[in-house]
Amino acid sequence: MKGILYYNCNRSGKYQIKGQERKRAIKSQGSCKVGHMCTSQIIVVKNGNDIYQVTYYSTHYGHDTEVQHVRMTKDEREKIASKLAEGVTNSKILDSSRSQFHENSLTRLNLLTRNDINNIKYSFKINTQKTIPHRRASISDLWNDEWEVDENQQILMLKRQGEEHHQLEKDDFCLIFMNCSQQHMLKKFGSIQP
Ligand SMILES: [Zn+2]
Repeated sequence: MKGILYYNCNRSGKYQIKGQERKRAIKSQGSCKVGHMCTSQIIVVKNGNDIYQVTYYSTHYGHDTEVQHVRMTKDEREKIASKLAEGVTNSKILDSSRSQFHENSLTRLNLLTRNDINNIKYSFKINTQKTIPHRRASISDLWNDEWEVDENQQILMLKRQGEEHHQLEKDDFCLIFMNCSQQHMLKKFGSIQP
């Protein structure tokens, strides 16, 4: 069978509002479409007998290669999917991908959003919703079982229900924590009054 396939640059063309009203909000980084045809294209001509002739026009026209419009590779998506399947939380995945910089260059993973993660969950059919058991749980049980302690957060004080404390009631629960930026601000601007 013979045939021609055209692969256009993903920035080519106009952003089209589908249907009568737009159901999806425009992405926060703006539509990736530049409003005209980009010159970069791949044309695949199949000549029959499994012979393919590929022409690749590598020069893009009318846009830069802004990293927020680059799609994640299959490999990057699979890595995130396997982390999610292992039970790594959204915020840990976001934190680690945003903090890994290679040779001062920004990669698509550094701009990972919750939306990306939700899309990956959806396409890999990963269900990370926890089922909360039907039992009466105390606040401190919930703290232990369900809440997530981020290593960037420093727990200044945790008093579970049932523990003795010189100022609090035995039934009181108290949690005081400070995150990295709060700590940074305190060290920078805080002062000890004489
Ligand atoms: Zn292009």
